Amino acid sequence: MTSVAAYAAQSATAKLAPFKIDRREPTPHDVNIDILYCGVCHSDIHMSRNEWGFSLFPIVPGHEIVGRVKSVGSKVTLHKVGDLVAVGCLVDSCQQCGSCHDHLEQYCEGGMVGTYGSRDPKHNNDLTFGGYSEEVVVDEKFVLRVPTNLDVKATAPLLCAGITTWSPLRHWKVGPGQTVGVIGLGGLGHMGVKFAHALGAKVVMITTSPSKADDARALGADEVLISSDPEAMKNAAGKFHFLLNTIPVGHDINPYVSLLKRDGTMCIVGALDPLKGAINTGALVVGRRSVAGSIIGGIKETQEMLDFCGEHNIVSDVELVNIENINTAYDRMLKSDVKYRFVIDNASLKK
Ligand code: NAP
Ligand code: ZN
Repeated sequence: MTSVAAYAAQSATAKLAPFKIDRREPTPHDVNIDILYCGVCHSDIHMSRNEWGFSLFPIVPGHEIVGRVKSVGSKVTLHKVGDLVAVGCLVDSCQQCGSCHDHLEQYCEGGMVGTYGSRDPKHNNDLTFGGYSEEVVVDEKFVLRVPTNLDVKATAPLLCAGITTWSPLRHWKVGPGQTVGVIGLGGLGHMGVKFAHALGAKVVMITTSPSKADDARALGADEVLISSDPEAMKNAAGKFHFLLNTIPVGHDINPYVSLLKRDGTMCIVGALDPLKGAINTGALVVGRRSVAGSIIGGIKETQEMLDFCGEHNIVSDVELVNIENINTAYDRMLKSDVKYRFVIDNASLKK
């Protein structure tokens, strides 16, 4: 075991603070990674504060990890020492069920092993610890290759914000000729706009923040719709083939459902909490509209997304923070004051 520096929340009401964790000795199939950068996802806040009710403490958050391979187990063939690699939201799955067979490990029927806050059945049922730490040891199958032409710190958020928006856009076959709305311009939303634009769709940023309109256009949005403007929402009714909803809290989805065309789908990736108010089923029935959900993406699809980003030069817009400022970063995220993803410089853990 190797003891490494990390930051952890010890309870739902505690701030994140320095904490030492043990990383396992690499098994023959493991890759030991020196973490360079780790993105800060809104899920890290939900989990550190037990807002979803299933957090196991202590929580060392972080599932947007990029780093360099420090050592590899004797049977590792996919990665070598010195490679630039990444780890996203999951570090294991049963590898036997239908979902794992279909490269959809995120829907593993036995339950995926999350990068943090999960029990790890193949490794003594230990609690997993994430990327707010100096090093991580992961089975080679769950380690991704990072295109070397990209700005390294700005690739970290691709591992969650990137794949979480890429996967539904691909699943619902978003492309030319379609109008796509991305709801919420935060970490996920800004990647959703970039990807939907790169896939050839007409993109509308749907936001509560009029002040973000110029940024939304710079990110690739063709139009901006202010969701708090009832007149603008009424005029946009029935115009969208697909909506990607990244709002992080329970909310009333009815105003958004009305934006869908016949046969349109709104995919929710943000809120896990109960929605506010009843769903107007009339709007679903009459327009044959769907409301769906999606979680991250599988390993194969995550690699495809990273390769696409390498080819199209797509990265996240990031603000680098030192680990000692993580609690302030959380406070700012809750005020929607980040453009558009905080990324931890993990060198600050070594101080
Ligand atoms: P974020 O950076 O904080 O962005 C969320 C954005 O949503 C805000 O910038 C704001 O955008 C909008 N928003 C916030 N509160 C709102 C409200 N009450 N009503 C309407 N809009 C509101 O968060 P994120 O990291 O993108 O994560 C978004 C959510 O996705 C979180 O709940 C996170 O846990 C979840 N998530 C899910 C998955 C998955 O696999 N399904 C993966 C990662 C994250 P505007 O200012 O533009 O309105
Ligand atoms: Zn995340």
